[in-house]
Amino acid sequence: MNLVLFGPPGSGKGTQSERLVHHYSMTHISTGDALRAAIRARSPLGIKAQEVISRGELVDDDMVTDLLESIIAPKRKDTDSFLFDGYPRTVEQVHRLDGLCETLNLVPPAVINLHVPEETILLRLTGRRICGHCGATFNAYFRPTRVAGVCDVCSGPLTKRVDDSPETTRERLRVYSSQSAPVLDTYGERGVLYTIDATAGADDVYRKITRIIEENY
Ligand code: AMP
Repeated sequence: MNLVLFGPPGSGKGTQSERLVHHYSMTHISTGDALRAAIRARSPLGIKAQEVISRGELVDDDMVTDLLESIIAPKRKDTDSFLFDGYPRTVEQVHRLDGLCETLNLVPPAVINLHVPEETILLRLTGRRICGHCGATFNAYFRPTRVAGVCDVCSGPLTKRVDDSPETTRERLRVYSSQSAPVLDTYGERGVLYTIDATAGADDVYRKITRIIEENY
């Protein structure tokens, strides 16, 4: 089984992906994580991507698809079950993923769409805090740490993603509506799209996703 976890920024794709890949032994592919790794490594792709990401825009389809291919091709021999988190994000990327599935002989993915209202997303993203040491995630509004700015798990310093500022968040949501939301129509027409209300807590959302998988795959 291959799965695309789709939804606006802040809909919980990363959190749900981590749980799903363990439960179903899938290989997690996050283009956002891969781009952030390229930025840390200061690779030519990372240098180009950094500016685009900090503006809240999408990285060019060719660049992000080449990156995706370079990650999944070598992993293909060890797995036939991928969870795509943050790709595809444009209709063009849907077609690129179709091509990759064909080339790599992968079953076309089912798509789970995490629906969250915009007001909730704004609070989730602008309040998101990440430990610079252990990567634990908190939220200044919904899940504050005991001591402000200090990780509850390892006492490391909390950081913010550069693209979680209020201005960039609003731009990411605008980009989502104009460029990413049309992906839903494409998958909807193919009959592989499942939309769930992802406003409640992570446990509730996880139960909804696993129910869809168990009932359909
Ligand atoms: P994410 O961690 O998935 O929210 O991604 C962070 C940022 O990386 C996005 O706001 C985009 O700028 C970029 N990005 C990640 N995945 C893609 C993609 N499939 N296509 C274009 N840009 C992407």
